[in-house]
Amino acid sequence: MTDQAAIEGAIRTLLTAIGEDPDRDGLIDTPARVARSWAELSSGVSDDPSQHLTTSFDVDTEGLVIVRDIDFHTVCEHHLLPFHGRAHIGYLPSGGKVTGLSKLARVVEGYSRRLQVQERLTAQIADAVHDRLEAQGVAVMVEAEHMCMTMRGIRKPGAITVTTAYRGSIDKAEFLELLRA
Ligand SMILES: [Zn+2]
Repeated sequence: MTDQAAIEGAIRTLLTAIGEDPDRDGLIDTPARVARSWAELSSGVSDDPSQHLTTSFDVDTEGLVIVRDIDFHTVCEHHLLPFHGRAHIGYLPSGGKVTGLSKLARVVEGYSRRLQVQERLTAQIADAVHDRLEAQGVAVMVEAEHMCMTMRGIRKPGAITVTTAYRGSIDKAEFLELLRA
C-alpha cells in the first residue's frame, strides 16, 4: 500500500524545489493526481506475478513455444522515468505443461508494476516461467525504449535496449530465428 498523503507532500516539495508554485491553478490538483498514479504504477511491489503460472494445461507438444510482442510499461528505478517495450518469451515445455498467452502477459504486467531495471525484469520473467511451469528451458528477450535516454542525458530517441535471459537448456539459435520469422 502506498502512503498517498506522503506522496502528495513529496510532490508539493518537488514542485517548489524546481521553482514552481504548487498552489497555482494548473498544479493545485497535481500532487493528488500523482499520488493516485503512483498507487497504480507501484501496485505490484509486493505481488508474486509468477502465481499466474500455477495453473497450466497439458498438451501433446515437445516443441518450443514462443509468445512474441507482449507490450509492457514500467518505471526505471534509476531515474523514475518510464521505459516501455515488448517482451518475447520462448520455452520448452516439460511433460506437455504449457500456459496461455494471457497468463504470460499477466506475468510481464505484474513485474512491470514496480520500479524496475530492464535486466531484472527480463530475469524475473525467465525465472517465473522456468520455476512455475517447470519448463526444460526458457528464453526471454525484452526490447525497450527508456525515457531516461530519450528525454534527458544522451537524448537518443528511438534507441532500443535489448536484454536476454536464458534458463535451463534451450536452443538459443532456434529462439532467435523464430522471433525473426
Ligand atoms: Zn533510467
